[in-house]
Amino acid sequence: MPPRKKSDDAERARRIAKELALSYPDVGTALRFESPFQLLIATILAAQCTDEKVNQVTAVLFDRFPKPADLAAADPAEVEELIHATGFFRQKTKSIQSASRDLVEQFGGAVPRELEELVSLRGVARKTANVVRGNAFGLPGIAIDTHMKRVNQRLGLTRSDDPVKIERDLMALLPEDTWTDYTNQVIHHGRTVCKARKPRCGECGVASLCPSVEADEAAPSRRKASRSRKRR
Ligand code: SF4
Repeated sequence: MPPRKKSDDAERARRIAKELALSYPDVGTALRFESPFQLLIATILAAQCTDEKVNQVTAVLFDRFPKPADLAAADPAEVEELIHATGFFRQKTKSIQSASRDLVEQFGGAVPRELEELVSLRGVARKTANVVRGNAFGLPGIAIDTHMKRVNQRLGLTRSDDPVKIERDLMALLPEDTWTDYTNQVIHHGRTVCKARKPRCGECGVASLCPSVEADEAAPSRRKASRSRKRR
């Protein structure tokens, strides 16, 4: 078989993005927020935690500390108690209070829009920055979490394990105006269909464009065929 051309991958990536948009037209981030600041904090808290749990915690947290200045000046012990249920609560308290302090001291209490500025905030990684850019500001951003990594690897749109390289691979393949929606749709697809342990390829809207479908789907029938061969 001749080697795949980059233009073939780009064409396939665009078709995958289109199909996912048709399958999940209304999917956004599952984190609840009313401002860029709230989304920033919620995204930091979402590491190693479900969005549902984060939403429960932030409803109380933002009621108590609505602005960056409030959270920056809060007693860490109180913050730790409030966010305890999200796990890693000591480190997360440090991160959200440091980021809040940076917002107050360097950006007048407002969340910046540029990627370089966002990642300059303590406790804010590239993934968080892209989630905020895409969902709070409507700017293009590809955020690589565990679902984005796994699903895009299975789809053959990246071969890398490194989030920054995966982000670059996808940026090269997909039009900028699809980046945010694509991220939210792939994350949803990864949670509901292309699951980590057993992808549901039979229910997948992009199966015809996925190089991993045969292996996943054919496995049971191959097993059945080999069993019947043994019986003969
Ligand atoms: S065909 Fe299967 S492996 Fe490929 S994206 Fe769909 S669910 Fe995932």
